Amino acid sequence: MTTNNTAFADLMAWQRQTEALNFVAERLGWDQETMMPRGAAEQRGEEMAAMEGILHARRTDPRIGDWLEAAEAPDAAGAAALRLIARSYNRSCKVPADLAQELARVTSTAQGIWAEARARDDVAGFLPTLAEVVNLRRREAECLAAGGDLYDALMDDYEPGATAATIGAMFGRMRPRLVALREAVLGAARQPAALSGSFAAETQLRMARDLATAFGYDWSRGRIDIAVHPFSSGGWNDSRITTRVVETEPFNCFYSTIHEVGHSSYELGIDPDHALTPLGRGVSMGVHESQSRIYENQMGRGRAFTGWMFGEMRQRFGEFGITDADAFYGAVNRVQPGFIRTEADEVHYNLHIMMRFDLERALIRGDLQVKGLEAAWNDRFKADFGVAVDRPAHGMLQDVHWSVGLFGYFPTYTLGNVYAGCLWKALRAAVPDLEAGLARGDASAPTGWLRENLQRHGGLRPPAETIENACGFAPDEGPLLDYLEAKFGELYAL
Ligand code: ZN
Repeated sequence: MTTNNTAFADLMAWQRQTEALNFVAERLGWDQETMMPRGAAEQRGEEMAAMEGILHARRTDPRIGDWLEAAEAPDAAGAAALRLIARSYNRSCKVPADLAQELARVTSTAQGIWAEARARDDVAGFLPTLAEVVNLRRREAECLAAGGDLYDALMDDYEPGATAATIGAMFGRMRPRLVALREAVLGAARQPAALSGSFAAETQLRMARDLATAFGYDWSRGRIDIAVHPFSSGGWNDSRITTRVVETEPFNCFYSTIHEVGHSSYELGIDPDHALTPLGRGVSMGVHESQSRIYENQMGRGRAFTGWMFGEMRQRFGEFGITDADAFYGAVNRVQPGFIRTEADEVHYNLHIMMRFDLERALIRGDLQVKGLEAAWNDRFKADFGVAVDRPAHGMLQDVHWSVGLFGYFPTYTLGNVYAGCLWKALRAAVPDLEAGLARGDASAPTGWLRENLQRHGGLRPPAETIENACGFAPDEGPLLDYLEAKFGELYAL
């Protein structure tokens, strides 16, 4: 006979191996984007599908049900671990193993097909693959939703507890203030000058490394490589980032790097006692994005830090047309209706997300077919941004997400911005000399506050509670919109 404590210990030992294998599977994905020879794509698809088969079998092992029934948690962290394991077990059991493996195989090769289609602006070449991915994810959602909303079932993977209804309502409240701000800024008499010129790739990369160091990135447990789409990967004692370099767009490289450092620092900042338990990872994509965004925007694009960056850039690149720190701050934060989400300014960014949210929800619910996606995208973009999409790579082919089946993921970006707005409000009240450190290129006070109040807890509390616990108030969109109106109102003399 097993005692309850044995059941808990057995379950956690099982979980440790599952979590370790998860890290291995994630590192295969990292390798695919950074090091893998192009000809290995098909083989990698098989490797990922094999790993997914093993992971799925482990996540649905019937012993987990028995252990969950018998286990008694020794403390609050144990109780949270049991809650997360039960959640994962119940979800995994609803998806047949062959469907899970099929999804892993198809999305792995679809990513390469998408990358080639984007390079050639070839929508027709991508549509059959996209249709297959949408179909598989819809089938998965049908297994998960049990008659409920298909999109909600998928979103729950990335942001537990969020629904299309609550997100849609929040977007509805945000949209009028964002549109009004966008119109005021674009019509303002004062318009900051853009950065121009060419900036050596090697020097950009060296500066990107120094920016990561300024934000406290732990190089003994991380590394930086080049990839098409910047991302962070891994956790515990191995969380890596990637960036990209374009000689005419140094801000792209610098702010992608700071963004990914935010993600990676969250993972590296989690209490090591939670390692290889379900608490040992960031709690949701929205909370994850709050960390990358507050590093990138509220801190990295703030007046204090950009003042330090201006001096650094002058030292490294010499004269580059911008002669003072205020003009540099304006160039960093210049508002412009561009095609590309990842390059969008803070005023436009959430409008890109709202558009994707509406389109992908229609795809998953069956209200929009993939053959109609390009026209739907282009019409919506023209209506929201006032410019016509000039080529598919700047339109529906720009993001990797749909090719890898990440439907329900996009709204977590705006949720992350909203959470970052709340955290910034709390952080400014808690750390009075915040700006002085940032003006010296030292982000240790704010990053320390975030580690102590949010990052170290990992998955201990559900997402919105994690933010509320750090801030001392329940999160909503108000602080983000107040911050945006104050910042851009001042910058554009509105
Ligand atoms: Zn991110």
